[in-house]
Amino acid sequence: MSDFSKFNLLSPLETALTEAGYFIPTPIQEQSIPILMAGRDLLGIAQTGTGKTAAFALPILDRLGRHRGAGPQGTRHKALPRNARVLILTPTRELASQIDASFAKYGRYLRMSRAVVYGGVGQQPQVRAMERGVDILVATPGRLLDLINQRHVFLDKLEIFVLDEADRMLDMGFINDIRRIVALLPTERQTLLFSATMPKDIAQLAEGLLRDPVRVEVTPPASTVDKVNQKVLFVDKSNKRHLLHAILVQEDVHRALVFTRTKHGADKVTNELELRNIRAVAIHGNKSQGAREKALSDFRAGHVRVLVATDIAARGIDVVGITHVINYDLPNEPESYVHRIGRTARANATGTAISFCDADERPFLRDIERLTRREVAVDLDHHYHSDTAANALGVGTGKKPTGRAATPQPSRRVGGGRGTPMKTGRARQPQAPTAARSSHPR
Ligand code: AMP
Repeated sequence: MSDFSKFNLLSPLETALTEAGYFIPTPIQEQSIPILMAGRDLLGIAQTGTGKTAAFALPILDRLGRHRGAGPQGTRHKALPRNARVLILTPTRELASQIDASFAKYGRYLRMSRAVVYGGVGQQPQVRAMERGVDILVATPGRLLDLINQRHVFLDKLEIFVLDEADRMLDMGFINDIRRIVALLPTERQTLLFSATMPKDIAQLAEGLLRDPVRVEVTPPASTVDKVNQKVLFVDKSNKRHLLHAILVQEDVHRALVFTRTKHGADKVTNELELRNIRAVAIHGNKSQGAREKALSDFRAGHVRVLVATDIAARGIDVVGITHVINYDLPNEPESYVHRIGRTARANATGTAISFCDADERPFLRDIERLTRREVAVDLDHHYHSDTAANALGVGTGKKPTGRAATPQPSRRVGGGRGTPMKTGRARQPQAPTAARSSHPR
């Protein structure tokens, strides 16, 4: 019997879960489902990869399903024209599509009507999808407001509101759009807010939105980070492209997600790989919706082994079987590192995360190690090792410096397994932390 049966979800939902191969609820599901089924508001601190979509989709579908047939005179409880019963606001088109697909999967035996609304594509099909009203509307804020302003969408009959990835929404400058949308919602509603982090501005937003919420927090950094085999390779900026190529041809890399800091960087890396006959595609905000979807489906299908992405474009991408995450550039926000490496080692698989670190990126590595509370093993066993990067000033690991500079640190080194003699004595220089960046930008 499935562990989901204890929630007493509607049986069509249980059937769909069994078919999806879900038998054990993840921690966020374990905690959130009963609270949400009881109708409470929820403040969820969790990121993509924790199973949070099902954590809210299942109780929502359960509630919608139960209220069917319970409308006036036994009629079906239905959305009114151009209205929605449930709204999920999410920052990117990819996340919107994925959330909609999750509702489709879990709700396949419940016959719920759904629509997805996001920018970058024609609005007419979305207008038509909303004409008769829907049970579940998944939307990004900008396009939703456009449709609201043109009176194609109304939210005055909304029953449940989900604000997903609230921290990213704020990072992406959606706060005013969110405020405008929230102002249109009925006060009598159930509200859920999810965020990977809880800086002050999110806490304030939550306070204004949620009524007596239950706070649920799952801590994926530890669990995700522990499942991923991580290493850092010190390299000069100019050699990164050679190092990437060397890894992609030598290592057992079946499916790799490569992160760059900029869109331009993503294109450059992709072109470079293509020139060297490694099939790669880039996904970032300057690509059309069609191009992004094509890139993702090619990557999913295995036609392309390497997907090069920026953080925002990659957020929430759910592709199984990513064996390697390669940080071509280290992120300047340490939380992004955890998000990135969480793209591998999904469900119960393990994965490898390889980070390139040049001299300028040393402070970023320090911040990552502080956040994850562990050191990333240093791999010296490659041709492009840079002493300059390894010994760059401005690095402090936040740990005791005793004897680290001069003594080999076997526990910090990996590699050496391919017959190359292990280089020694390159443990990091202990230094005082610098003010190169604040460790928590938000
Ligand atoms: P999410 O955090 O919602 O993006 O989910 C991460 C991944 O875990 C998705 O591929 C889900 O399909 C999968 N997933 C979610 N819940 C479960 C579960 N209870 N058992 C197995 N897989 C799950």
